[in-house]
Amino acid sequence: MKLTKPRRDILKIYERIEYPLNAEEIYNLLNNEYDLSTIYRNLNFFEKENILKSIVFSDKITYYYKPQGHFHFIYCIRCKRFERLDLCFEKQFKDYIEKNIQFKITDHILYFEGICSECQKEGEFNV
Ligand SMILES: [Zn+2]
Ligand SMILES: [Zn+2]
Repeated sequence: MKLTKPRRDILKIYERIEYPLNAEEIYNLLNNEYDLSTIYRNLNFFEKENILKSIVFSDKITYYYKPQGHFHFIYCIRCKRFERLDLCFEKQFKDYIEKNIQFKITDHILYFEGICSECQKEGEFNV
């Protein structure tokens, strides 16, 4: 893998941030040093190389994160903040699916969307 400067800079961000980031956030974190299309192109590259994984929530924004360890996310649809959830429910699902649907599971993605405690304080959290 060729590590160009933008690639190195993007990976550096992921050394200190473990929650998912979208292209625009990376763009800002790099002080607009590269244009957005460069950021997108390199994020796609990292995804193809399995260095980053992406996740899309109901607001259609793609977020990229480093798949280190096994964890899930809770995502606030108001302030777009993530929290990591070190809980997994795989076994029950896996047993059920493999037994009843004869489907071999190799991976899963699970996240919850909702309103975080900070946003709940602001009230009117109907979406
Ligand atoms: Zn929130
Ligand atoms: Zn899991």
